[in-house]
Amino acid sequence: MPQLPTYDDVAAAAQRLQGQAHRTPVLRSSTADRLLGAQVFFKCENLQRMGAFKFRGAYNSLAKFSPAQRKAGVIAFSSGNHAQAIALSARLLGIPATILMPLDAPQAKMDATRGYGGEVITFDRYTQDREQLTVQLAAERGLTLIPPFDHPDVMAGQGTAAKELLEETGPLDALFVPLGGGGLLSGTALSVRALAPQCKLYGVEPEAGNDGQQSLRAGRIIDIPTPKTLADGAQTQHLGKLTFEVIRRDADDILTASDAQLVEAMRFFAERMKMVVEPTGCLGFAAARHAGLPLAGLRVGVIVSGGNVDLARYAQLIGANAS
Ligand SMILES: *Cc1c(COP(=O)(O)O)cnc(C)c1O
Repeated sequence: MPQLPTYDDVAAAAQRLQGQAHRTPVLRSSTADRLLGAQVFFKCENLQRMGAFKFRGAYNSLAKFSPAQRKAGVIAFSSGNHAQAIALSARLLGIPATILMPLDAPQAKMDATRGYGGEVITFDRYTQDREQLTVQLAAERGLTLIPPFDHPDVMAGQGTAAKELLEETGPLDALFVPLGGGGLLSGTALSVRALAPQCKLYGVEPEAGNDGQQSLRAGRIIDIPTPKTLADGAQTQHLGKLTFEVIRRDADDILTASDAQLVEAMRFFAERMKMVVEPTGCLGFAAARHAGLPLAGLRVGVIVSGGNVDLARYAQLIGANAS
């Protein structure tokens, strides 16, 4: 197993990202403060380049490539934000990118990935094994594989969002972070333990796919079938080996949020903060609001992880049963 990244790696990633990633705003809302009885600080990674924090980990990973790796290129598999993050980072660094996507991935996501200059190779997710195909292509073409979360450089890059947040707010009492495979939560943990060691750190998963919560309780990585949830950025079947080690060492707990709570949070962001946030990006706020933790009087951070959502789908979700 590769070495676990440390806060020094997050600090080095922040240097590499300087002038490349946006330093996203930390926004407040008096309505959010009132709902939670707390001071709430939203780190708005929905306003990051390509619309999600994933740019941070992708760019940091590619910026560390050797000249030979740069020349040969990068390969990634993803139907979502990681694909766009790799394609954009590769274009900025002049590295050829090959992205493996399922045949039935949304056209908008394939177009966005191609628009950033990535070569999209499709596969049939029902008959072909994606990881095997990726490894085979990587070997044939000499490409370097960058996975979406279980990689030290990806984790360190993702940790730069919380570093910026804590530098701006000073110590927080609690921080809520969306959780899929754990790249964002583990990177965040490195920053939190270095900059605000007393801060409680919570990962938040979709209720339908609480493999991380089960893993934390069991003390080993638990695998689940792909969960059915609106939070398509957190439909992972298991945590990574590296991310799990950091999460079990440094996170305080893993909470869940229901799809209905995610839709409620999407509406809140739209109506009160004029922000488009994708369902997965709402996990942190949904749990801060509904998980029943005593937050009154505290300083609470929430990472809003992304804003990429098909507009028709978005309108349908926030329009239905609007109060
Ligand atoms: C990928 C993603 C997540 C989950 O991140 P992990 O590092 O896999 O835990 C959360 N929100 C958004 C918007 C994402 O794209």
